[in-house]
Amino acid sequence: MSSAVITGSSRGIGRAVALRFARDGYDVAVNYHTSESAAHEVADAAREEGVEAVVVGADVSDPDAAAHLLERAADELGGVAHLVNNAGIDQHVYTADLSPADFDRVTDVNVNSAFACTKAALPHLHAAAEAGAAPSVTNVSSILAYTGAAVECHYAASKGALLSLTKSHARDFAPEIRVNAVAPGHVETDMTSDRSEAEKREELAAIPRGRYGRPEDIADAVAYLRDAGFVTGETLNVNGGELMR
Ligand code: NAP
Repeated sequence: MSSAVITGSSRGIGRAVALRFARDGYDVAVNYHTSESAAHEVADAAREEGVEAVVVGADVSDPDAAAHLLERAADELGGVAHLVNNAGIDQHVYTADLSPADFDRVTDVNVNSAFACTKAALPHLHAAAEAGAAPSVTNVSSILAYTGAAVECHYAASKGALLSLTKSHARDFAPEIRVNAVAPGHVETDMTSDRSEAEKREELAAIPRGRYGRPEDIADAVAYLRDAGFVTGETLNVNGGELMR
C-alpha cells in the first residue's frame, strides 16, 4: 500500500483530499497546526476506509517542523509516495496597512512551507520511485495567482510563487517525480465563510457553474494529478468556469 502526506488536512480542502486518498486506498498523514481534535476526526474517518492514518502536529512554515512531519509520516507509514502541499492562510489587508511581518507570515505558510515539505519529502519520494511507485507532489495554489487580488496582495503573490515553484520542481525532479498544481476558484470552507450575502451574490454571478466549489471538487482534481502519469509541471484550474484560460 502507498502513502501520502497532506499538509493542513484538519479542515476544508486538505481534509477532503486526505479522505479521498484514504478512500482510494492510500495510508495518510493528517497534518494540523491548531485544530488537533479535528485532525484526529479526519484520521478516524480515514481508518474507516481500511487504511492507516497518522496525525502529526506541525507548523509547516517552520522548516524543522516540516522535516519532522515527513520523518514521522515515513516512519509510521513505511514511506511517503505522495505529498500534497495544501496548508494555507488568507488575510485581508490593504497594502498601505500591511506590515512586512504579515507579508512574510503569509509567504511562509503558503509557499515557503511547500519548499520545505517538498525538500524534506525528496528522499522518501525517490525511495518510493525505486520501489516501483509513481511519486507525485501537488501544490494547492489559487485562481488569485492569475487575477491578483485587492486587499490580499501577499496571498495572491504567494499563490503565484507556488505556480513557478511547481514548474521548477517538475523540471528538478524529472523524470521520477511528477509535480503539479491545482488552482481552485471560490470553495466553501472556513477560509471563505466571512462573505456577506451581497458578496456571495456577486461572486456567484461570476461563476458559470452557478455554485461555489466544494472541497471534494478540489480533491477530485488532486486525485487526478496523483494518477496522471504523463502530466507534470501543469496547473489544473478548478473554478466552475470563473476563469477560462
Ligand atoms: P481552511 O478551511 O482555512 O483550512 C486551512 C488548513 O490549513 C487547516 O487545516 C489549517 O490547520 C491548515 N494550516 C494553516 N496554517 C498552517 C500551518 N502553518 N501549518 C500547518 N497547517 C496549517 O482553508 P481551505 O479553504 O481549506 O484552504 C486550503 C488551501 O486551499 C489553502 O492553501 C488555500 O489558500 C487554498 N485555496 C482555498 C480557496 C477557497 O476558496 N477556500 C481557494 C483557492 C485556494 P489548523 O486548522 O490545524 O490550523
